[in-house]
Amino acid sequence: MKIICLKFGGTSVGTVERIKKVSNIIVSYAKKGFKVIVISSAMSGVTNDLIRKSKKISNNFNFSEQDVLLATGEQMSCALIAGRLNHLGFKSQSWMSWQIPITTEGNYKSSRINKINKKKIKDYLKSGGIPVITGFQGINSKNRLTTLGRGGSDASAIMCAKFFNAYKCIIYTDVEGVYTTDPNSLKSAKKIKVISYEEMLEMASLGAKVMQPNSIQDARLNRIEIDVRSSFVKKLGTTITKRKNIIRNKIITGITSTKNDAKITVVGIKDRPGVAASIFKPLSENSINVDMVVQNISATGKETDLTFTIKSDDVSKTSKLLRQNKKIKFKDMLVDKNVSKVSIIGVGMITTPGVTYRMFQTLANSKINILVISTSEIKISVLIKKNNIKKAVSALHQEFKLSY
Ligand code: ADP
Ligand code: ASP
Ligand code: MG
Repeated sequence: MKIICLKFGGTSVGTVERIKKVSNIIVSYAKKGFKVIVISSAMSGVTNDLIRKSKKISNNFNFSEQDVLLATGEQMSCALIAGRLNHLGFKSQSWMSWQIPITTEGNYKSSRINKINKKKIKDYLKSGGIPVITGFQGINSKNRLTTLGRGGSDASAIMCAKFFNAYKCIIYTDVEGVYTTDPNSLKSAKKIKVISYEEMLEMASLGAKVMQPNSIQDARLNRIEIDVRSSFVKKLGTTITKRKNIIRNKIITGITSTKNDAKITVVGIKDRPGVAASIFKPLSENSINVDMVVQNISATGKETDLTFTIKSDDVSKTSKLLRQNKKIKFKDMLVDKNVSKVSIIGVGMITTPGVTYRMFQTLANSKINILVISTSEIKISVLIKKNNIKKAVSALHQEFKLSY
């Protein structure tokens, strides 16, 4: 059986007309002799709308119930796709995660798939059917519905490709592939023909919404090659693959920015061993992800200021935890939600000296102040004021010659 996994994102199934269009794409693969497994997101806007509703019900909506609620979005789009395929004369059926089942581990709202039971789907494929599987969801060991984090249908598709040993996994979305930066924000962004798992993982984690970070981690671990393509136009997209398969002459592969970071500065903390651990322990116990960290020593050496970034959604919880923390004493706490992290990513920087300098000089030339810096082997991130994002991305895109 030559199995192919086709995943459709929210905009690709955003209207009834779009569902008719993607059904034709599915049929074209079936006609070529592939055994097609379809994975779909909810119609665009549906998940956001369900979240808004849950917030109106309670500002402390039970996470497990929220997953049950959000999972309905994918049920609707999958039934519509299967219905259209039936209309076109193809045997097809929607499959909710619990019917397969797709099992997950971890917390509600951010679970990870650990197993997909193959039997029923394989039998269905053998019988000539096209299964349309709800992305973004699974069930946990308590038999409760779980979801995989925003954008999580990508992870469902990758895991289906792994468990069903698919020949290929194609992610159909609303842009033609992965670009050097968000093509909806910068017109001169260029489509990347081929990108490594490592670079894609950094790009996705640092703001390139086109792929969910966990899905790339799953793909890298399982060596699943991914094609990212548009469901709107028939054009070659981007292949995400092993680094070995790529020859590139550019130092930087992509530039990303984030929209939902916040900076917290704890001012005047007593400087003694263990203070940073005392600050971060309760945050980690409450699943608050701390990203960039800088610590300054005061002139006297007795006190320190600690600055770190978190997701803006976590600001009120973090402030509360810091104020309640009896293990630390500080003079003040400053919160800034008007910040954004801009990153340059590329394996080329491993072997090229001077990339950091070029990034900083470019930002300086654009009169952009750097608030915090963090680096890894293949990325450099800086925190800047949010109103400078466009200027920064555009200047860096030009500096590293990504427009051609
Ligand atoms: P889907 O609903 O198909 O999963 P998403 O909205 O999750 O689609 O992701 C596609 C969007 O990602 C694009 O519309 C684009 O604005 C955004 N995006 C951000 N960075 C990039 C990038 N580097 N390349 C391509 N798209 C990007
Ligand atoms: N519908 C979910 C979301 O909006 C999952 C996805 O789109 O991949 O996050
Ligand atoms: Mg997505």
